[in-house]
Amino acid sequence: MPAKYHIWTIGCQMNEADSRYLASQLEDLGFSRAESDRDADLHVINTCVVRQQAEDKIYERLRNLKGIKRQNPGATIAVMGCLVGHEENPALRERLPFVDVFMPPSDTRPLISYLRRRDGTGAGLADERLPATSEHLAWEEILAAGKAFLPKSERGKAVAAFVPVVLGCSYSCTFCVIPHRRGRERSRPKEEILAEIRSLADQGVREVTLLGQTVDRYGLDLDPPTDLSALLREVAEVDGLWRIRFLTSHPNWLTDELIDTVASVPKVCPHIEVPFQAGNDEVLARMKRGYTIDQYRRLIERIRGRIPEAAIHTDIIVGFPGETEEQFMDSYNLLAELNLDMARIAKYSERTDTWAAKHLPDDVPSEEKERRRVMLEDLLSELLTRKHECLRAKTVEVLVEERSRGRRWGGRTPQSKRVFFEDDRDLRGQLVNVTIDWPGPFTLVGRAAD
Ligand code: SAH
Repeated sequence: MPAKYHIWTIGCQMNEADSRYLASQLEDLGFSRAESDRDADLHVINTCVVRQQAEDKIYERLRNLKGIKRQNPGATIAVMGCLVGHEENPALRERLPFVDVFMPPSDTRPLISYLRRRDGTGAGLADERLPATSEHLAWEEILAAGKAFLPKSERGKAVAAFVPVVLGCSYSCTFCVIPHRRGRERSRPKEEILAEIRSLADQGVREVTLLGQTVDRYGLDLDPPTDLSALLREVAEVDGLWRIRFLTSHPNWLTDELIDTVASVPKVCPHIEVPFQAGNDEVLARMKRGYTIDQYRRLIERIRGRIPEAAIHTDIIVGFPGETEEQFMDSYNLLAELNLDMARIAKYSERTDTWAAKHLPDDVPSEEKERRRVMLEDLLSELLTRKHECLRAKTVEVLVEERSRGRRWGGRTPQSKRVFFEDDRDLRGQLVNVTIDWPGPFTLVGRAAD
């Protein structure tokens, strides 16, 4: 019986992309996807440590895997992503002795090499536990081997895919652990990205989202330098690809040229993710975000001036060290004033190694953080309920991504609004005009217009 793998992924879209690369490589090695983790011989968890909540879930999952390993010593357990980080981490290996292989973000080489050596299907590294240099990234190996970028099990099925274009992060926002775990900022060469996207489009993918912690800095570090606008224009030339998105932008690098590209290249969706994180200049300064609220406001005006239909998403942190009630209300009022299209609201979570953890006491009590989070969530829901009312009886274009259950299909509009509708046809991967009957704050429900 062929060996089966199971990948459990938590965290950001980068991790989802990394899990796709890994699945693709494993299926090329002859593994097949397990329906559930109970059927798997190879267990991978792809991890996130951006907040304590994610870390808690990982450790819970690891306890399960420890049990699986005890029952079945032949099982292989591999851990990937930000828990591992980009540097050698002996303390983690000591803490998790039942884990066979550790992989840093985007580097699948340790596991692939381990399996090849174990199964005699090729030469492995001398020591698959060697530190990750991030010199051998998954996509480089897939490209060099002339393989497809989508696992066999997803070919002709996956409609949308995430494509990392900037790795790591060289910002030093004081709350954020990502630069410590993913290393300095590096852009992928344009040709490599285009080769991946062409391969995805050949396998039926119709939408790609280009990823980077500061995606709007794409290409500035390449030699010769290029930029995200140039990349978007080239990606738009890929046949078979219909929609392009990119995230996450940092307010300081979202140039007029980039806004113009979004406005003028039809395949680039009118959807911009540009977090403000806090609505108060003092808090922003303590976060070392590098902009003021006024600058952010003007950016939103510039975007809306050029792309009136643009959907703008933000992230907000509540309960950052020292955040007073008034400062929190500044975030609340800014969200209400700007009337954005989505906000991901997080309670501040102290992360080791960050500047804030070293210098600022985590002094907002957790019940207070929760109260602030709920206030923002309620506001968001109210704002979006009002905002989406104008979509009632309107027809929107939906790229159908999945059958959610029975006759119910789900997809998104160019503005990334989630839409569900019922239909007997097989519509996966189709563009369907949907008339909205029920515009909710977070999902829209309608029926096919044709
Ligand atoms: N590079 C992007 C996104 C970073 S991570 C940016 O700078 O905007 C995704 C989101 O997680 C962040 O936008 C932030 O809102 C949240 N986040 C990061 N670190 C956090 C922490 N320590 N506590 C709570 N939320 C955090």
